[in-house]
Amino acid sequence: MKAVNPQTHTILVVDANDKSRIATSDYLSEAGFNTVEAKNAKLATVYFKQIQPDLILMDIDLPDAQGGLELCTQLTVLAATINAPVIVLSRHNDMDLAAAVFDAGAADFVVHPINYLVLVQRCRYQIRGSMNLNSLKRRERILEHAERIANIGSWEWNSKSGELHVSKEFNRILGFDESRLTSVRDVLEKLPESERLKIIRHFQQPNSKHQTKITLHHRVGSETGLGRTLRHEARFVLHNDKDYTVYGTIHDITEEIAHKDQILQLAYYDTLTQLPNRTFFKTHLDHAIKQARKSGHLLAVVLLDLDLFTRINNSLGHDAGDELLKKVSNRLLRTFDDNRCTALNMHAIDPQAPIETMSDKIARLEGDQFAVLINRFERLDDVILFVQKMLKQLVTPFSLQGNNIVLTASAGIALYPVNGLGAEMILRNADAAMHFAKSQGRNNFHFYSSDIDFKSKERLSVENDLRHAIRHNELELHYQPKLHLKSGSIQSVEALVRWQHPVRGLVSPSQFVPMAEEIGLINELGEWLINKACLQAKQWNESGLQPIRIAINLSPIQFRGSPLVQMIRNALLTYRLAPSQLEVEVTETVLLEDTNRVLRTLDGIRNLGVKVALDDFGTGYSSLSYLTRFPFNTLKIDRSFVSQCIQKGQAAAIIHTIIQLCKNLNLEVVAEGVEKYEELKFLLDHRCDVVQGHYFSPALGANELADYIRNQSWVTLLSTPEMVIDR
Ligand code: C2E
Ligand code: CA
Ligand code: CA
Repeated sequence: MKAVNPQTHTILVVDANDKSRIATSDYLSEAGFNTVEAKNAKLATVYFKQIQPDLILMDIDLPDAQGGLELCTQLTVLAATINAPVIVLSRHNDMDLAAAVFDAGAADFVVHPINYLVLVQRCRYQIRGSMNLNSLKRRERILEHAERIANIGSWEWNSKSGELHVSKEFNRILGFDESRLTSVRDVLEKLPESERLKIIRHFQQPNSKHQTKITLHHRVGSETGLGRTLRHEARFVLHNDKDYTVYGTIHDITEEIAHKDQILQLAYYDTLTQLPNRTFFKTHLDHAIKQARKSGHLLAVVLLDLDLFTRINNSLGHDAGDELLKKVSNRLLRTFDDNRCTALNMHAIDPQAPIETMSDKIARLEGDQFAVLINRFERLDDVILFVQKMLKQLVTPFSLQGNNIVLTASAGIALYPVNGLGAEMILRNADAAMHFAKSQGRNNFHFYSSDIDFKSKERLSVENDLRHAIRHNELELHYQPKLHLKSGSIQSVEALVRWQHPVRGLVSPSQFVPMAEEIGLINELGEWLINKACLQAKQWNESGLQPIRIAINLSPIQFRGSPLVQMIRNALLTYRLAPSQLEVEVTETVLLEDTNRVLRTLDGIRNLGVKVALDDFGTGYSSLSYLTRFPFNTLKIDRSFVSQCIQKGQAAAIIHTIIQLCKNLNLEVVAEGVEKYEELKFLLDHRCDVVQGHYFSPALGANELADYIRNQSWVTLLSTPEMVIDR
């Protein structure tokens, strides 16, 4: 074997006859080819595999005639794998042999004597042909892969021959058998019926030069049962008046569409609740306003905001908050009748497309804020009823991670065109109305009116003032005495916070405590309060007064995440105050939250030696099980029962029962809001432990309270003839 020059073409010369093989080989070498010689079949196959020649030149006249044809067949099969042509030489000018050789796949048949000049040309011609074929095949391969990657199939149809040629990918996309020729009919059958006629018409008369391209989208079912969406595009190339060729592509755009849907979903829907988002809502509202402007009907936008939701996020964590929001959105969806459009069946709607029949829509605007568009209502009462229905959906406590969560919401309503002509304005006014509803005590709704604007601005300034007041020690604690009936002495007081506003005068804690909760100041306020109370107790101690216990009120929010126990312990340590001189009052709403956390905190407080009282008993979601599960020392009967105990038998019976219950559970019982002598008498008769109320004294400043105790000012109030006090 000679060394092969990779720059030039290589010819494998197979000939059993040494003389003629060498002659042929030499001639070809001189003409510029690389040549490799093989004198028998075995060497020929071995060399073929090694050098992969560009052409095989074989003399078929082997000693054994049958062997010659066999080798020819063998080599042509091998050569076909690399598209190398085989030229057969023979000394026999035999037609049958020539036919057999061509049948075997040879490219040419040359009879001795050989004209080497012509043979060289034949070799060149054959090699060029095979190179062209190779490059064509390569291009076909590239195209095939490209089509596969792009999910695009192609085809060509000629009007004259009526023949259809399609690519591999075309067959794959449409699910056609590749081994079979695809007919026009096959393709037409895959098209939706509605399109078929249109297409046929196009193919029959692509007359207009302007209309040489058509596009068509449709869905097909596939073997897997999943519908695919296809886009067809075709171009008509007119050759003359009659003849034309149509070139077309077919594109599987299923994924593209899914992608687009996904983008739409992300852009217009809230991922947490799957409700439409603010963008969607605004677009929808814009459309609704346009329609309402034309037809002259009214629209209402309801903005609903959960009350104190951030507390839940802070205490239970964001995951729990998210879960709760999902539950809330499901409840809110129940407000919509089945026959009205709800958020769930709106997925199909492209928010940018004009919506023909506007429907009610609920969206999650952000965080804990939802919006509803009420379109075409008959009377304002309908809107009110709807909003009430929505708020009512939240009444039943939510169960979340084993806790019962009580949620309320506040809603603001703005109307088109009364409260604004554009979406932005209406939303802003609904928001103002919602904030106003919150400032009015939450869990209610309010219609927008222009004076709300003023009030909400005012509220903002009050909020700022409150922040300032807490930080600059401008709040005060007043103390309301609690009278221990058995001993007839004041052993404890309730600390009640007071805010003397420089301009507004005295602001009630019922107003500013919820505000402090809302704007995240309650922990700061609480800390100030605990320290202030401890300081006061210490000062009274030092002034020679008998040790007084101060009860402070804790907001449920202080149980959510703030280190309450540590804060109380620090205050006690700072003022070196006996824990028995401090008491905390909590309301039942605390117990409805993260039960375990609340329990831990209350236990922690009690372990410090601080007493724990359950405040406003009977007003909330009272459950007797709380009384045994939580570590209370004291129970305070709500004012509302005390104020009715004289006139209403029911209230009297309730007080009686609560007192008995406390005796059984070994809890101290306090009646608050005692205003009248008769009430005191009733409580004495029923052996209530402690009373508190205006009958004895309102909350007093620190010095006044000290005087009140020193002077024993309450004693005269007790010394009525019928009173028998067990001293
Ligand atoms: P509360 O804990 O139930 O406090 C008792 C409220 O009833 C006090 O109102 C008190 O002044 C009032 N009161 C006492 N005796 C009578 C009476 O005989 N008749 C009538 N009609 N009212 C009586 P106040 O001080 O306006 O406090 C209202 C609520 O604000 C409190 O209700 C408590 O929930 C909250 N609050 C007050 N101070 C604080 C505080 O320092 N921290 C926290 N977190 N909340 C506080
Ligand atoms: Ca209280
Ligand atoms: Ca109370």
